[in-house]
Amino acid sequence: MSAAAVSGTVEQDRTEQLAAAGSPIVLVIHGGAGTIRREDMTAEREAEYRAALEAALTAGFAVLEGGGSSLDAVETTVRLMEDSPLFNAGKGAVFTADGRNELDASIMDGATLRAGAVARVTTIKNPISAARAVMERTEHVLLAGEGAEQFAADEGLALVEPAYFFTQRRWDQLEERRRRERAEATPGPASAPPAAGRTSAPPSDTSASATEREEAPPPETVREPTTAAPSSAFGTVGALALDRAGRLAAATSTGGMTYKRFGRVGDSPLIGAGTYADPQCAVSGTGHGEFFIRYAVAYDVCARVRYLGQPIGEAARSVIHGVLLPAGGEGGVIALDARGNVALELNTEGMYRGWRREGEPPQVAIYGEE
Ligand code: ASP
Repeated sequence: MSAAAVSGTVEQDRTEQLAAAGSPIVLVIHGGAGTIRREDMTAEREAEYRAALEAALTAGFAVLEGGGSSLDAVETTVRLMEDSPLFNAGKGAVFTADGRNELDASIMDGATLRAGAVARVTTIKNPISAARAVMERTEHVLLAGEGAEQFAADEGLALVEPAYFFTQRRWDQLEERRRRERAEATPGPASAPPAAGRTSAPPSDTSASATEREEAPPPETVREPTTAAPSSAFGTVGALALDRAGRLAAATSTGGMTYKRFGRVGDSPLIGAGTYADPQCAVSGTGHGEFFIRYAVAYDVCARVRYLGQPIGEAARSVIHGVLLPAGGEGGVIALDARGNVALELNTEGMYRGWRREGEPPQVAIYGEE
């Protein structure tokens, strides 16, 4: 696969033909950007990621092929990725500094500019469906914490014990980060005692109860060598779709960043930062959320399309390389316009990503130059 095909813009050259049969249907996904190096990846793990990306593309695309809406397609796709322990969203979410999984998600309907989001939820199995319910069944855009959970319960959405989100790999990443923090806080021999207030105990001192902990998968079944973990900080998921009626939608879901503290909320549930869609442009981002918030990344890409008339690829490239990179913000975006043009831009070593357009096989990529 050429670099242009999966990193950069994929121009839709058959728009005219397909327009006769309605809009060209397109689905674009990402599974997080970060330090994903070939040398750190086992062949087996890489195959797992590629298979998971393809499965997500297939499921979401089937919705579009069946005449479903772009909103249904992005929700279906993101739910599947939330259920996979490979991604930092839903099951497989990273841990906060105090050993919890706090999930954020958002969804936006480009045709109407309606949007919904949840932040800091700990018991909603599929946060993206809660985000959609917020959009469709409340007068609000963003619900956080306990209120969001109460709302999800009232709506009859699937709830789980917090321990459902536990995976040994993410726990090991937290432990590694805690060790680094201790080493930095305590100059001297590596055997220095842990800093007060921090713990290196397994999830026993997290929000999970003893019973919940027993429901977590046995460590042996999920433990992998740390070197096989592609990234401890990234892994958010996102999806964009263009349906037969020409409507765009965007969705993003995440566990946030490992070792996040003090109730930190990132860009993913913030409309305009990690997610945006309007009638012409849809964007989902992944990376260091604080930068995506400060530079209004998702909105900036669409604003360039709207106000400057930039092609979607140029808009995405300008923001990721021309704005974020000089500022020190690591990450990437997927972007899609109403003609079916796809952009996948990253300034990190890799970004799990893929796209599918009518009449073409699904495409997936992981590393920067593929
Ligand atoms: N953007 C997410 C956050 O900052 C993390 C990620 O994309 O991996 O919460």
